[in-house]
Amino acid sequence: MAKITKLDDIVSLCKRRGFIFQSSEIYGGLASCYDYGPLGVELKRNVRDAWWKSVVQMRDDIVGLDCSILMHPLVWKASGHADKFADLIVECKNCNTRTRVDHLTGQAEEHTVHVSVEAAIAHAGDLSGKVCPNCGSVGKFTEPMEFKLMFETQMGASIEDSMRLFLRPETAQGIFANFRNVLDTTRVKIPFGIAQIGKSFRNEVTTKAFIFRTREFEQAELEFFVQPGTDEQWWQEWKQLRFNWYLELGLKKENLRLREHNPDELAHYAKACVDVEYKFPFGSGDWQELEGIANRTDFDLRQHQRGIRTLNNWFENARDLEKVELAGEADDYNKGPLSYFDDEAKQRYIPYVIEPSAGIDRSALAFLVDAYDEEQVRGEKRNLLRFSPALAPIKAGIFPLVKRDGMPQTAKKIYDGLKKYFDCFYDEKGAIGRRYRRQDEAGTPFCITVDGQTKEDNTVTVRQRDSMEQTRISIDLLQSYLRDKLEL
Ligand code: ATP
Repeated sequence: MAKITKLDDIVSLCKRRGFIFQSSEIYGGLASCYDYGPLGVELKRNVRDAWWKSVVQMRDDIVGLDCSILMHPLVWKASGHADKFADLIVECKNCNTRTRVDHLTGQAEEHTVHVSVEAAIAHAGDLSGKVCPNCGSVGKFTEPMEFKLMFETQMGASIEDSMRLFLRPETAQGIFANFRNVLDTTRVKIPFGIAQIGKSFRNEVTTKAFIFRTREFEQAELEFFVQPGTDEQWWQEWKQLRFNWYLELGLKKENLRLREHNPDELAHYAKACVDVEYKFPFGSGDWQELEGIANRTDFDLRQHQRGIRTLNNWFENARDLEKVELAGEADDYNKGPLSYFDDEAKQRYIPYVIEPSAGIDRSALAFLVDAYDEEQVRGEKRNLLRFSPALAPIKAGIFPLVKRDGMPQTAKKIYDGLKKYFDCFYDEKGAIGRRYRRQDEAGTPFCITVDGQTKEDNTVTVRQRDSMEQTRISIDLLQSYLRDKLEL
């Protein structure tokens, strides 16, 4: 059983072991921005790689992309983000803290409703009984107001030529904008998907929970394009596939669930949405979203067809996004530039899209929390991270039992041989028990020790993190033994 019950415990474990640090810490830190330390960067890379392997590498019907963060401003007009991507907030008249209306105590869901402000205000309901999460005062709030979530920046050196751009708030739009390019340059046929992992940015109002909600974060998104009418079946399929991914990587089943959105929770573009939720053991022990799997219909591709039709108006309006009206939809939109000709159905249509959208940082946090364990071993506390081998930042620690009798040389040779294939760590300092404990805390599944017997029969001990069992293995078999156990 994991013993982490407070967010502070995770934060201090992450700092102590070099997983995650506060950004700009030597300057007092920058709110809601974090840096991944030596172990954290490997964990995060492994989460990313596991997603890519499962979603792209192992499938014949999905290709990858890596789009730029800065995109043409009309992308955000067409997607709806420029006009609608805002949270509804209130300010507490007592402590002046701003809080998302849907985060006020007394409302269960932690969920952003990206709808028009008018609709959100209509939805906000009666706040007279709501409690400020900062100071506890009841019902002392300003009128709900809009808080824009996109970060802005400028492109271009001269004032006349410079253009207002946005840091992307999701990676998905890069995929939609490249739909035609992918169709024209690959042999994909519907049903097929385009996947991307990359940074997204949102000027979140409430960021409290460590890397759970930050202003700069990494998303892993798949847009899976299907024939209209088959969308519901594919949505069910992806719901299950994505749920199983978390289980296969070791999250405990009792901490994971699927939660379908009620119709009034759905984003304006979605026909259906289900969240994969994880039971984080801090705060009120709430279930929190790890990933959303939405049926986005043909909304985005149709909107981008309107976006392309808006280009003329864009140039006339001196590139001012506020002045631009999105063009209407062509009557024959089904035959537009982002349509698809289905050879088998002998039909042209705008595909529907199923979107599993995951957060790499949020998943890394869930994997960390879920893997954390403490136990008593011969009267001493042992802290360990029971990571699945695929996620463990270091796969094997390699040690000489003592620093003499040629043991360091042999251990170094083993290390140099294995590090070509696995992330390994060489350590010859301190008592062997302490070295094992350090690797337990880093989540390293195997420790290999060269001892007195090694010289005699060319074997070493391999210690398993979870059971602490030791087995003697011939040095010649180490590589295949590890490959087998790590399932790499
Ligand atoms: P929330 O309701 O928590 O604000 P959302 O429903 O707006 O999230 P999506 O737009 O569906 O989130 O984004 C997909 C995934 O990206 C989320 O499930 C989450 O894992 C991740 N994500 C979104 N916003 C953040 C953030 N501010 N920090 C870290 N991860 C995030």
